[in-house]
Amino acid sequence: MKYVIGNWKSNQNITESLIWLDGISALRPKFSPDLTVILCLPFTDIAAFNQRLSDIGLPIITGSQNVSHLPPGKHTGEITANMLCELVSYCIVGHSERRRDFKETSEVVAQKTRLLLENSITPIVCLDLPYLDEQIKALFNLDIDVSRCFFVYEPISAIGTGKPVDPVDANHVAGQIAFLTDNTAPILYGGSVSQDNASSFVTQSKIDGVLVGTDSLEPTLFAGIISSLS
Ligand code: PEP
Repeated sequence: MKYVIGNWKSNQNITESLIWLDGISALRPKFSPDLTVILCLPFTDIAAFNQRLSDIGLPIITGSQNVSHLPPGKHTGEITANMLCELVSYCIVGHSERRRDFKETSEVVAQKTRLLLENSITPIVCLDLPYLDEQIKALFNLDIDVSRCFFVYEPISAIGTGKPVDPVDANHVAGQIAFLTDNTAPILYGGSVSQDNASSFVTQSKIDGVLVGTDSLEPTLFAGIISSLS
């Protein structure tokens, strides 16, 4: 199985998210049965998007981009894994933007990962070289079953810059991640992926898919990535 994951970040309100869905539906990209397409939305869009998705019948699975590191309780404003499990099947954790802007640590990411798994949501754990070993160790410290996670190599230099890393170099790091996680989990690459370069990553031996930020926002570009891998 190969994977394409879109990450809208803090973009698109409900109305815009439904326009996007109508847009991609009209484009009729070829969805291969060997390709799983996941879209990670803002919390506020998910319910309405899921409803429209089931009306249209497109094979897109929804995910969120964050979750609380705390269980249900007195934590004003937090969105828990227990709330999300009725809405999504996947959730991104450990994105470098959350490390940078919200000072998230590998321990917090591990706590989030554990709560997601307890609520049957697949964690999509983002990694970059400076904290790759530390992050995986933090998961093992909490006895997390890494075979139930997805991992994404996301070099900060490539995120949103239009400068992807060389696919062969990405494959090398994906091999390191595979080694550290006992070759049990899907491993993806993220960073300036486009319809022109997606297949050069996914054809690498250790890379099972791509995480797409900027080019997931535009239906034509995201449909192009789906078609290029189908
Ligand atoms: C991301 O932020 O996860 C990402 C991959 O972004 P972009 O595709 O814009 O580099």
